[in-house]
Amino acid sequence: TAKSKEGASYDIALPDIEKGVVTRFPPEPSGYLHIGHAKAALLNDYFAHEKYKGTLLLRFDDTNPSKEKEEFQDAIIEDLALLGIKPDKTSYTSDYFDDLYGFCVQMIKEGNAYADDTDQATMRDERMKGIASKCRDRTVDMNLAVFEEMKKGTEKGTKSCIRAKISVDNPNKAMRDPVIYRCNPVPHHRLGNKWNIYPTYDFCCPVVDSIEGVTHALRTNEYRDRNPQYEWMLEALGLRKVHIWDFARMNFIRTLLSKRKLTKFVDQGVVWGWDDPRFPTVRGIRRRGMTVGALREFILKQGPSRNIVNLDWTLIWATNKKYIDPIAPRYTAVLKEDTVTATVKGALAKPYTEDRPRHVKNADLGTKKVAYSSTILVDQEDAKTFKEGEEITLMAWGNAIVRKISTSGSTITGLELELHLQGDVKKTEKKITWLSSEGQTLVPVELVDFDHLITKDKIEEDDNVDDFLNPKTEFRSEAWADGNVAGLKVGDIIQFERKGYFRLDRPYAEGKPAVFFNIPTGKTGK
Ligand code: ATP
Ligand code: MG
Ligand code: MG
Repeated sequence: TAKSKEGASYDIALPDIEKGVVTRFPPEPSGYLHIGHAKAALLNDYFAHEKYKGTLLLRFDDTNPSKEKEEFQDAIIEDLALLGIKPDKTSYTSDYFDDLYGFCVQMIKEGNAYADDTDQATMRDERMKGIASKCRDRTVDMNLAVFEEMKKGTEKGTKSCIRAKISVDNPNKAMRDPVIYRCNPVPHHRLGNKWNIYPTYDFCCPVVDSIEGVTHALRTNEYRDRNPQYEWMLEALGLRKVHIWDFARMNFIRTLLSKRKLTKFVDQGVVWGWDDPRFPTVRGIRRRGMTVGALREFILKQGPSRNIVNLDWTLIWATNKKYIDPIAPRYTAVLKEDTVTATVKGALAKPYTEDRPRHVKNADLGTKKVAYSSTILVDQEDAKTFKEGEEITLMAWGNAIVRKISTSGSTITGLELELHLQGDVKKTEKKITWLSSEGQTLVPVELVDFDHLITKDKIEEDDNVDDFLNPKTEFRSEAWADGNVAGLKVGDIIQFERKGYFRLDRPYAEGKPAVFFNIPTGKTGK
């Protein structure tokens, strides 16, 4: 079995592969790609390019001009490229509007579709109860005349839709005369005012799959009830058949994976935008510090299973840690409000710097400057654990003995240390991060941590999301970082020793602290 770069390989075999395999990823350009879309895109890419050496089509399913925008289309193309997915061809459902129109006329003429002006609520109720619409037995001429009104976008036209005449009471409700064309006289982002009618997903998906040469339509199994309908459309129109192969949606706890709901969060200002680090979009998780390698590995390992699971974020972040730990340069930060100033006896009178490795296990990362002097800052939390006379290790310096601890209540207000460089760093219990306050310009930084946007593990379809909004999802603390940090760029992933991994979101600029986002490592599942 073919393996992906990440070593994933699945036993599932698609049927009828002798004449080649063509798969497709059909996003609607109505939002940014989220991690669920990434799964669909990566699986189609894997089967087309890695398992069967076939063709991958990218098709923008742009049939609802009320929701779609150029901005989303461009972002989807960029995000796929970022994920390492290279479609062999890009098309738009709207490229086929003439064909689709013709196929709809054909359906009407052959008695396979009818125009219906039943209001939405009644139509839903009739469909639930298995009652035929009053319009079901209209003549072909009448149906064509209404379709023409729809095409013109007249008042009368906007009240109607076209439905496939499949069944009134099939136990599978997806077979109860689904809507195939709607009238919606709003401009389309590519075609302007050319059309007032737009095909539905249920109609254009099978038709365009068939005429574009798709051999295997891989889709999520929430569409399973609609598979017979997909097959019915192709049968009715005498079009080439397409194999449907379904896999499970990917869901995460306390996470919304629906463009409609994510759009609402963006519009309500719950988040900063589509690339918010709390968002499950490809851009959001990247901004939070996810690497493309980890994302691909994690998703491909999930594979094309059909079991719907509600994943925890722990595992994907743990996968990410494996990628970033070997390549994240190490720097130092101490929390601003909690620093203790310590004097160091035995340090040279004049501050100086030394070159030290950015990562002791990865020489490729080069060196950084470490400043040394007789005045250093340490974290209060560390100082509180010290006892007079104790030998500790100052990381990247050596051992020191705690000579004097000054306190005010339970707060440590000052420390006197004395270097003991001949001491064995392997024998001390405490390895302490510290920053020299002389010999370098300390960089003000903000360390930001995030929590999930919602408080409920699994949001149900009829839950009101607003009832489960997490009131506090952003936690900021101010710190001082070593002078090297001033030179970091947006997107750099680093470790502040003993504090965690961070991704630089905003570099240091005169007067404004650098902003770092904490990268989860899978310990808390955030
Ligand atoms: P959303 O509800 O987020 O808008 P969608 O399915 O309506 O999702 P599309 O743009 O139509 O969005 O999706 C493109 C492809 O991505 C489809 O084939 C769809 O099945 C797949 N997809 C969407 N969400 C997930 C998910 N959570 N897991 C796996 N695949 C998904
Ligand atoms: Mg969709
Ligand atoms: Mg959807």
